[in-house]
Amino acid sequence: MKERVILHSDANCFYASCEMVLNPSLRDKAVAVCGSENERHGIVLAKSEKAKKCGVKTGMTNREALSLCPDLVIVPPRFEYYQKFSLLLHKIYERYTDYIEPYGLDECWLDVSDSLKSGEEIASEIRQAVKDELGLSVSVGISFNKVFAKLGSDMKKPDAQTLITRENFKELVWPLPVSDLLYCGRHTSERLMRLGITTIGALARMPENYLVSKFGKNGHALWVFANGEDDSRVAHMNDYTPPKSIGHGITCIENLENTEEASKVIVALCQDIGYKLRAHKMSCMGVSLSVKDENLCVFSFQTKLEVATQDQAEIARVAISILKKNYNWKFKVRALSVTAIDLQSEDAPVQSMMFFDYEKQDKLKRLNSTIDEINNAYGKRSIQPATVLDERKMPSHTDKSITLPGAMKK
Ligand SMILES: [Mg+2]
Repeated sequence: MKERVILHSDANCFYASCEMVLNPSLRDKAVAVCGSENERHGIVLAKSEKAKKCGVKTGMTNREALSLCPDLVIVPPRFEYYQKFSLLLHKIYERYTDYIEPYGLDECWLDVSDSLKSGEEIASEIRQAVKDELGLSVSVGISFNKVFAKLGSDMKKPDAQTLITRENFKELVWPLPVSDLLYCGRHTSERLMRLGITTIGALARMPENYLVSKFGKNGHALWVFANGEDDSRVAHMNDYTPPKSIGHGITCIENLENTEEASKVIVALCQDIGYKLRAHKMSCMGVSLSVKDENLCVFSFQTKLEVATQDQAEIARVAISILKKNYNWKFKVRALSVTAIDLQSEDAPVQSMMFFDYEKQDKLKRLNSTIDEINNAYGKRSIQPATVLDERKMPSHTDKSITLPGAMKK
C-alpha cells in the first residue's frame, strides 16, 4: 500500500496574530488576548511571540502577565473574527485536498496523499500563501500518520515545517515526553510517569499487553501511536458530525441574588444557543441548567421538552422554570450555564399534538431566521431582547461551548 502523506497545519499565536492583522499598530508589540481586568475572566487566552518571550503564559491572570511584561497590550477576544480567519485558512487548504479535518479553530489535518507534489512542497506553498494572503503564519508537520504530523507541527515554530518519516521518527519523536502525544492527557501522563515511562520511546518499547493491563483500550491506542502505527483517516471536508449539545455559560462579575437577576443572565445566554442551533439546523428536546453557588458548589438540573425547539425564548423560559423549581437561593449564584440537549435535526418529524399551536411555531421560526439574517449582516448583537440590555452583572466575555463528537465542518 502506498505511504500516506498527512500534514498538520497549526496557526501560530492564532488569536493574537489575528488581532495584529486587524490592527497593524499592534505589530512588533507584546500582545495578549485577555478577559478584561474587572472581570473574573481576566486571564490570558493567547499571546504574541513577543509576549511569550517575556514569560507571559496562557491561563495567567492579567495582573501576573503585566508584572512580567509592563508594556503588554491587552485586547479583548473577538471570536467572530477568529472564526472568519479560520475559514480563510481552510480556503487555502482546499486548493490541495478535500480531506481537511479541523482540530479547534487554528489547527487542521490535511491528507495530500493523492497530490502530485510532495508533502514538503505543499507545506511550503501553504506557509507562503498564508503569509501573503492573510498576514498570518502556520507551522506544518508532515508525516505518514496524523499523530506524528501533529507532533511535527509543534517542533519548529513560528512559520516552519518538520518532516517525520519512518526513517527518522525514532530519532525525532521518541525522545519527546509522553505528555506530548495526542490524547495523552495530564492524568494518563502522570500515571505513565509513575510507572517510569517518561518518553514516547519508552512507551513504544513497553510490551503492548502490559499497557493494556494498566490502561485498557487507551493503553492499546497509546502503544499504537508511539510506534507510528496510527492509521486513523483524515475526515473529508464534507463529513459533518452534528454537535451533541450546545451550551453557553458565564461567571458573573457580581454574585446573583435572586431569580429576577438570574433570569436576565439566562435570557442572554440563550441568545447564542438559539443562534447556534439554527446555524447547525438542529433543535433540542431537552434543556439543562447548571448553577454554581458562591461556595463553588455546582448543581445541574435538566428537563425534557414536549416539542423540539430552536427558539431562544422558549429555551430561556424552560431554563428559568428549572431554576425556580430547583434552586432555593440559600446561597448567591456565581456562575450559570444553559445547555440545549437531546439535539435532533430541525427537519425531524414533529409528533402531532392536539393543543399545540403549529401556526405560532411557524411564525416564530420565520421571525428567528430574520433576526439571524440581520445579526449576521450587522453584527451579532444588533437585535437582542430588551432584558439583556444594560445588565451590570454580565461580563462581556463568556464561555461558549459546543460539544462535538469529533471532527466538524464549519
Ligand atoms: Mg496554534
